[in-house]
Amino acid sequence: MKISISYPPLESEKGIALLSQNRQFQWFKDPTYIYPVIPASAATLLSKSGFDVFWDDAVAEGISYKDWLIRIIKEKPDVIAVETKTPVVKRHWKIINEIKNKFRHEYSGGFEPSVVLTGDHVTALPEESLLNSEADFIVTGGDYDFSLQGLCLYLKSLRSSAPAILKTPGIYYREGARISNTGRFVLCGDLNGLPYIDRKLTKWQLYAYMNGNFKYPPGTYVMAGRDCWYGRCSFCSWTTLFPGSGFRLVSPERHLNEIGKLIEELKVREIFDDSGCFPIGGWLKEFCNKAIERGYNKKVVMGCNMRVGALSREDWHLMKKANFRFILIGLESMSQNTLDRLNKGIKVSDIKNTIKMVKNAGLEPHITTMVGYPWETKEEALMTVDFAKYLFKKGYIDTLQATIVVPYPGTPMFEEAKKEGWLLTEDWDRYDMRESVWKSPVSNGDILKFTRSLYTSALSPAFILRKIFTVKNISDIKFLFKAAKKMLGHFADFKE
Ligand code: SF4
Repeated sequence: MKISISYPPLESEKGIALLSQNRQFQWFKDPTYIYPVIPASAATLLSKSGFDVFWDDAVAEGISYKDWLIRIIKEKPDVIAVETKTPVVKRHWKIINEIKNKFRHEYSGGFEPSVVLTGDHVTALPEESLLNSEADFIVTGGDYDFSLQGLCLYLKSLRSSAPAILKTPGIYYREGARISNTGRFVLCGDLNGLPYIDRKLTKWQLYAYMNGNFKYPPGTYVMAGRDCWYGRCSFCSWTTLFPGSGFRLVSPERHLNEIGKLIEELKVREIFDDSGCFPIGGWLKEFCNKAIERGYNKKVVMGCNMRVGALSREDWHLMKKANFRFILIGLESMSQNTLDRLNKGIKVSDIKNTIKMVKNAGLEPHITTMVGYPWETKEEALMTVDFAKYLFKKGYIDTLQATIVVPYPGTPMFEEAKKEGWLLTEDWDRYDMRESVWKSPVSNGDILKFTRSLYTSALSPAFILRKIFTVKNISDIKFLFKAAKKMLGHFADFKE
């Protein structure tokens, strides 16, 4: 049986869809392609289970929709699994209906693939996609590598003389005219027991260079845990996939073995760990000390997501010794009121300290910021913009990401927005961070202006001069140009 893990082309004048492995969807004029770890793990698991797997990321390959349709029909997969998100789910419905129709037209004898949707949006609203498209199955929950394996083994069994019963939890499907499901998804897959991801099968090179966060390409992504040991921010779309306190980790040893393989076999120079938040405490210490013992700190640069206030000065220095570089810190806002309402669990007073500690350890902090909260005043948004300017001027941060906050279905923030009557629309196409989709004391024009101001906050003479004087090698120069190009791209992304 052939299984296609597909990202169909999503053609839009807004740019390239940043869909895979992404907690907050965006269209980018200057694209970044992120290696999708969980779908890649699904492809590997399926291949190890004897399925013929076709890795079909047409977004990262940059092929046209027309060419992709011809290719997928020629490939004739039995199952097409598509990861979706809120702002593109309606596009995916149309694509599913079109491919179903094309297959019926192209192949006589009733052959048509089963189409499966995965991701946070369909986890929140599984029935919606079955009602609005010809999708056959909705796989809910974050462990969709395990769940897809379960579903495909079930579909394979239907061809045998002893068909199995679909028991994998969290799957929605049609049964005659009604929608059935196999119960609530569970997150208990043994991460240590997973095979190492087959990077060749999943065309890792598609994502190795076109990624704005890599200073030393080729780079790739790994995940030490699923997904975030904090897991409580009210806006975070991945808390829909990984709710509650069920954070699971691979052992430091296993993680290092995978990194060792990436260094030796693929010659990667930079690795980003995209666990929602990288493990801390004894796990972190063991990981860093063993990476140093193995000499990986001389061979590869590491990056990860980390929370404000999570680590001590000593921890940051140990990470530097283990050759961490890029540290992505979710700051979101400089208003304590907003941080509290987001259940962010951090204090404004701790933000500067953390960022200074990261910088003083020799690491490169990258902060994420958002504007456009329904309670946020102009003054509060300006506090975030001014703080970003201050951080760049002082040299405490090197890069930044700014977005317009969107309440994704499934998040506590969406529930709050529904309850309070804040939503201006439930047209999912508009939930793409290009505009404010809820009532706000600040106009949409001003929100876009604040987002652009966040991107241009780096443009202080002090920051630019410091950057020029700290150039040490060709990688630094290339990264500087890449960062400038990205910044201009993002400025264009948020034009009115
Ligand atoms: S810390 Fe980051 S990954 Fe974790 S819940 Fe908050 S936003 Fe999501």
